[in-house]
Amino acid sequence: VVHLGVDLGGTAIKVGLVDDGGELLSSRSVPTGLPRPPQAICRDIVASATQLLEQENLSWEQVKDLGAGAPGTVNPDRGVVIHAANLGWWDFPLREELSRLLPRNLPVYIQNDANVAAVGEYLAGSAKGAASAVVLTIGTGVGSGIILNHRIESGHYFGGGEFGHMVIVQGGRSCNCGRKGCFEAYASATGLIHLTEEEMVRSPESLMHSIAAQQGKVNGRTAFDAMRAGDQAGSRVVDLFLSYLACGIANIINALQPELICIGGGISKEGDTLLLPLREKVNREIYGGSQLPSTRLQICTLGNHAGMIGAAMLGRMQE
Ligand SMILES: [Zn+2]
Repeated sequence: VVHLGVDLGGTAIKVGLVDDGGELLSSRSVPTGLPRPPQAICRDIVASATQLLEQENLSWEQVKDLGAGAPGTVNPDRGVVIHAANLGWWDFPLREELSRLLPRNLPVYIQNDANVAAVGEYLAGSAKGAASAVVLTIGTGVGSGIILNHRIESGHYFGGGEFGHMVIVQGGRSCNCGRKGCFEAYASATGLIHLTEEEMVRSPESLMHSIAAQQGKVNGRTAFDAMRAGDQAGSRVVDLFLSYLACGIANIINALQPELICIGGGISKEGDTLLLPLREKVNREIYGGSQLPSTRLQICTLGNHAGMIGAAMLGRMQE
């Protein structure tokens, strides 16, 4: 028996075949090709799934269920994407449309993409065995998914759990959401690039300039690479970035104190370079101090497969 998992994003539609243990067997990715109607996107999802099954010599009879993660606010009970800004969707009945197109009657589950990534890490990755975890995905923005007492927590109207949009700097840098000083405006890869560029203006002679030039342009690795090469400017940027990240994480711990906070996305590839100083900063800030038992910080283990694996395992969350 296999499960189909769909990771629907603004640039790519990824479909994966996943076994009962949460192992990704194979996957396909096709461009989302926006703008186009949601029905066309659903047809592509089913076509990709069909091709995957053929490629693996499996039939639709062997598929237990299909799960899909979509960006934006999703009502999993009604099976509707309430609003997804980057897809241009309002009240789209994603579950019904996928069910209609599938060649066989299958359970279909839908969820918000950050929650889906959290489910993946909780059932098959870094948070396996934990009762509660917050999964932060640090990319262009900061996505967050909350598992509390083995259940997804996204608020009464499914729009909650958005830690990326809690303000950590009152009157700070503008965020896409309309507020100023959001966690995501500072602790995302985009935020790190801003901090790096600001420091490059202040330190025009730094090694970070030549590293950025070699890389073509400033990216999320530039400051970390400069720091590793012994550059003071690079160290200052990384330290400041980690302080913002620690501030947001300490807020999450003070609010929920989950068993684990797992950090994923491109920047998590820095591993212990990120994690060790981050733990130290967080311990200095959390309520009650670091003497008492509290939330552990970890790096996510599923990488960019978390979306497909978590989507494929959404059915497990209903059991
Ligand atoms: Zn915001």
